Amino acid sequence: MTEIQAWASHGPKQKLEPFSFNPGVLGAEEVEIVVEYCGLCHSDLSIINNDWAMTQYPVVPGHEVIGRVVAIGAQVKGVHLDQHVGVGWNSGSCMHCHQCMSGDNNLCATAQPTIVGHHGGFAERLRAHWAWVIPLPDKLDAASAGPLLCGGITVFSPLLTFDIKPTHHVGVVGIGGLGHMGLKFAKAWGCEVTAFSSHESKTAEAKSFGAHHVISSRDSTAMAQANSTLDMLIVTVNVALDWASLLQTLKPNGRLHIVGAVLEPMQIAAIDLIFGQKRVSGSPTGSSVDLATMLEFAARHDIRPQVEHFPMSRVNEALAHLASGNARYRIVLDADFA
Ligand SMILES: [Zn+2]
Ligand SMILES: [Zn+2]
Repeated sequence: MTEIQAWASHGPKQKLEPFSFNPGVLGAEEVEIVVEYCGLCHSDLSIINNDWAMTQYPVVPGHEVIGRVVAIGAQVKGVHLDQHVGVGWNSGSCMHCHQCMSGDNNLCATAQPTIVGHHGGFAERLRAHWAWVIPLPDKLDAASAGPLLCGGITVFSPLLTFDIKPTHHVGVVGIGGLGHMGLKFAKAWGCEVTAFSSHESKTAEAKSFGAHHVISSRDSTAMAQANSTLDMLIVTVNVALDWASLLQTLKPNGRLHIVGAVLEPMQIAAIDLIFGQKRVSGSPTGSSVDLATMLEFAARHDIRPQVEHFPMSRVNEALAHLASGNARYRIVLDADFA
């Protein structure tokens, strides 16, 4: 195999630079993909900056990969040459532990993140275990599909995992990269949908994404009116919030579900959970099966992330745009290696 051209960071907060590496012999269960598009996720920034103290440099970020299969190992199943596929946060798991065998392979203790100790999708080509290479439905728009593979599955998977029904009322906190997809999925799922945002300027857009109601989290009267209305509230932001008032928006048996990596410990009063029998939970992306289910659902309902495109050679500009908080709402890099 020839060297792979890529973009890598060599230390915390360092710009990405051209980088090449020899991928070695293709493993028997590995698939090699030519990258066409790769989404830029906030987790790429967190890994580049070593915010989670797990980065291995040089790091080639990129874990929302769309591309075509160009090589397959002898033991690969379910994927064929030239197939259009996607790879998300994980690119491997053991496939024999309890979690893998029961369909929760994203919870495998030895799952291989695509961008930690493994070179990701800001590259000409990417390798992954066949189980994590997800075929794209024909109807899906490949140019905007990348962000579904991490951001999309992150907000879709709670609907599946916690058996959300069309009769339920779902809230989404934060109208951003994750939240705007959460609104689209919950609307298509058939739910009544409420968006919570601290930016009133986003109200019209939130409604265009599928929110039936938009509540300003700074408006205490509106927040009080939302008390006891929600079956599930999905929190997509990564800052500490007024957890007590958010818990009050839940009906009895309601669930506050966290998918934004809030770094500060969450201060929650036990009494706010006890009365109303409420639950607080979190989840990391989703399993291979959930990814495939999500892509089929997105294709059927024509759910597309709202994206801005940058050529991959302008990745540093794209990262600065993401860091500024002005991306609307996800960024996709178009591979442009010579
Ligand atoms: Zn496993
Ligand atoms: Zn991500």
